[in-house]
Amino acid sequence: MSAELYDVIIIGGGPAGLATAYLCHKYGLSYLVLESGKAPFQGIANTYPQGKLVYASKPKDAPEPFLVDELRPPDKPVTVESYLQYVQHFVQHENLHIRTEVAFENIQDERDFLSITTDKGRFKARKVVLAFGSSIPRELSVYGDAKMVAKNVDDPTKYVGVKTLVIGGGNTAADVVIAILKSKRECNDTQPVYWAHKSEKFDVNKETAQRLGEEILLGGNIRLLPGATPRIGEVDDEGVDRLVIRINEFKQADGIDLYHALSFPMQNVIACIGSQGPVPIFDKLGVQTISCTAGVCRVAKEGDRLVLLSAEFESTRKGVYVVGGAISPSYMKISEGSIQEEKHPNLIYTAINDAYHVVEAIRNKLGK
Ligand SMILES: Cc1cc2nc3c(=O)[nH]c(=O)nc-3n(C[C@H](O)[C@H](O)[C@H](O)COP(=O)(O)OP(=O)(O)OC[C@H]3O[C@@H](n4cnc5c(N)ncnc54)[C@H](O)[C@@H]3O)c2cc1C
Repeated sequence: MSAELYDVIIIGGGPAGLATAYLCHKYGLSYLVLESGKAPFQGIANTYPQGKLVYASKPKDAPEPFLVDELRPPDKPVTVESYLQYVQHFVQHENLHIRTEVAFENIQDERDFLSITTDKGRFKARKVVLAFGSSIPRELSVYGDAKMVAKNVDDPTKYVGVKTLVIGGGNTAADVVIAILKSKRECNDTQPVYWAHKSEKFDVNKETAQRLGEEILLGGNIRLLPGATPRIGEVDDEGVDRLVIRINEFKQADGIDLYHALSFPMQNVIACIGSQGPVPIFDKLGVQTISCTAGVCRVAKEGDRLVLLSAEFESTRKGVYVVGGAISPSYMKISEGSIQEEKHPNLIYTAINDAYHVVEAIRNKLGK
């Protein structure tokens, strides 16, 4: 465990997380941002199409201006690439403390602090701000543990020299396959990339299919596994974590099924099986959510689960705050003894202003 006890640990380095970090920095609170991607604003870098303009949108009925002007997108929209470049300079200039490629996992209560578990070890903090946005990569669910399976690829050259398995049938999986095939081709590596999908049909757009086709024509060694199902995460005799994927199944008259399966070291597996909202993480953390019932919610649909937060964005877990896209498009606000749905548009404006209010609340609580 890291020895330092931070005032605030911030999970996610998007607009909400960086605004929180900047304000902590400004007011002398010790803090650290843990970002799972390669760089701050990875969420935006991953989801905005190339050349997209970034708007300083503000809900019509919002009374406040942007409360952290330093991260506000310019009034005259700029491309996402320029905005990302600006943010990178800002982070460097302010020397904000960010650890990248650290994926948050859980929070435990200790006597005087919160212990934050990540894939790179534990961190200690008095308060935790969850700013992980709305789009969380879906976990592979198999019997046993599949935690070591990657959900994206930062460096495709890592897979040169090994047989690699990519799981998922959409454009994201196809892009990962293309990137790894290209790296292997450039290094004259003949080890194949296996591409598995649970359904019989892969579903990629024309442009992606074209790029994949080109890579195959240039010598890409790909093995398609349609109708394949990841089944088990297990540790082999040599202590290697492996993923077993069933590639076909034959029902027999005597009731005994015959099937073929492949077993890959988990470190050679990437699962791009879409994203999900943050509710499974709230459940894991024991952060309370409430299901919307008919007539109660105006923004959310019946059955949607909304996170329960105080007026200062503190969750039902003491010392754990939630900000930004992670609580959009609405949440249940506890205020003056009543609970009601509160609109919370998923905008940079909302993310930044949440951060402002949360840091004010934390400063009050910590007396700083
Ligand atoms: C295509 C598109 C266009 C948009 N255009 C605009 C626009 O023009 N103007 C506007 O105001 N809004 C726009 N939005 C919305 C805006 O981008 C979001 O409201 C904003 O990014 C939310 O900020 P956030 O910090 O809460 O989350 P995010 O920006 O999603 O940041 C969350 C960060 O947390 C990291 N993270 C996730 N899980 C973990 C984990 N387990 N451990 C550690 N880190 C983790 C992610 O990598 C990410 O960097 C757009 C959204 C999309 C998808």
